[in-house]
Amino acid sequence: MKPFHYLRPTTVKDAINALASAPNARFIAGGTNLIDLMKRGLVAPEKLVDINSLPLKKIEQKAGFVRIGALALNSSVADHTIIAAKHPLLAQALKAGASGQLRNMATMGGNLLQRTRCPYFYDTAFPCNKRNPGSGCSALEGINRLHAIFGFSEKTGPPTCIAVNPSDLNVALSALDATVVVQNTQGERRIPFADFHRLPGDRPDRDTTLEAGELIVAVDIPDAPFARNVHYFKVRDRASYAFGLVSVAAALDLDNNRIKTARLALGGVAHKPWRLFEAEKMLVGQPVSETAFRQAAEVAMRDAKAFEHNAYKLKLAPNSIRQALTLAAGIS
Ligand code: SF4
Repeated sequence: MKPFHYLRPTTVKDAINALASAPNARFIAGGTNLIDLMKRGLVAPEKLVDINSLPLKKIEQKAGFVRIGALALNSSVADHTIIAAKHPLLAQALKAGASGQLRNMATMGGNLLQRTRCPYFYDTAFPCNKRNPGSGCSALEGINRLHAIFGFSEKTGPPTCIAVNPSDLNVALSALDATVVVQNTQGERRIPFADFHRLPGDRPDRDTTLEAGELIVAVDIPDAPFARNVHYFKVRDRASYAFGLVSVAAALDLDNNRIKTARLALGGVAHKPWRLFEAEKMLVGQPVSETAFRQAAEVAMRDAKAFEHNAYKLKLAPNSIRQALTLAAGIS
């Protein structure tokens, strides 16, 4: 690991100014991903701005939304009474992620920014467009069992990157239509969750639309009628402490067994959380039934495409969608 300067500001303004004056500086909070990246030599910031003393840990009910401070720990959010009462889908997704020890260190803001777990990204012996743009994507002809089935463009040649976003939290926040609140030297910027994470396109090195020097200060989740019929369903290689092969965030608002509103998002299938808008639309007005859930899963999978080792996801994803909807509706 290369030497770096370290400072610990106590105000958001000082933190942003500290980064603005050093282009190769990074914010650090829990450090559960950044330290790994530094130890492996994938990033080498000249300055680390430790933001743990900033007043960004609150979880509050505001008028029409819940605000979660960017430094709220994943474990604190998952166990909070407001989240349990209003957004149990979020609590389920957080508890499905990582380990208890990691959830006690990882923060909301950091979870949004964690990098992919594509093994070629972490192994500097292999070309990787995300680590070194223009060098190639080793996963295309390599072991691509964990990789994407949606969201990579082939219009102008082979996909630039087929990595997936590893976060469980992001899948739930996508389904809940959250907003990411960021601060920069000009003031506040609000980014709808659907626009926060990017598809690889011609900049696979960029995971998000966060600009250099911007600091995530909060995540806002609008009030919604998803306190009862929700389920976060995650399939992984072992029962705990593993990234998802496929996961589904499902939320239903039911009226006498008829679906008034549906929210669905997939994890482990694309470079960003993959919201299933068409399937959601299809479900509205339908009675809760296996038939409706099967049709929604079929609609969801229309544009999916597999590579050599991840064709199993073409079956696993629709089966998981059906299972998540069934458990959310309480008809299992
Ligand atoms: Fe790199 Fe993305 Fe290809 Fe993995 S899938 S090797 S992260 S470019």
